[in-house]
Amino acid sequence: MIDRIKSFFSTFLLFELLKGMMLTGRYLFARKITVHFPEEKTPQSPRFRGLHALRRYANGEERCIACKLCEAVCPALAITIDSEQREDNTRRTTRYDIDLTKCIFCGFCEESCPVDAIVETHILEYHGEKRGDLIYTKDMLLAVGDRYEEKIAQDREADANYR
Ligand code: SF4
Ligand code: SF4
Repeated sequence: MIDRIKSFFSTFLLFELLKGMMLTGRYLFARKITVHFPEEKTPQSPRFRGLHALRRYANGEERCIACKLCEAVCPALAITIDSEQREDNTRRTTRYDIDLTKCIFCGFCEESCPVDAIVETHILEYHGEKRGDLIYTKDMLLAVGDRYEEKIAQDREADANYR
């Protein structure tokens, strides 16, 4: 009975509402921990693993030698590679797809690569509006590498020093 009376007065006097307003008021003047993304960003670890890229050498030649180690090591089976031998007897990929909807960003692909061809950049601002948009083809991965090569090289050096 006493509980029901308490509950009645609590409801009638808007006690819960006042409690809520007090909590809001307390946080209104507290130090803000949110940031205005994308203008503001939180610090990123040098070991952050984001969007993949395929790199080239300075002379424009693709680094990837189609050894398929990355495809074999990928625990999510996210990488699909086809390859062929060129006239100069070197091997290159004819297809290199990464399905980012399967990828778990473990970094095994870049760790397994003997020529530093496939890397995970620090890029996190990318999106897809349908599933197919997140299947990155060889051309798309090379384009990421071409565009960000300078930053990728710097990040890889910082990463090596961090280890
Ligand atoms: S980061 Fe891991 S899951 Fe993603 S493609 Fe590389 S090996 Fe596969
Ligand atoms: S990206 Fe590296 S590990 Fe993968 S096939 Fe090419 S050379 Fe081999």
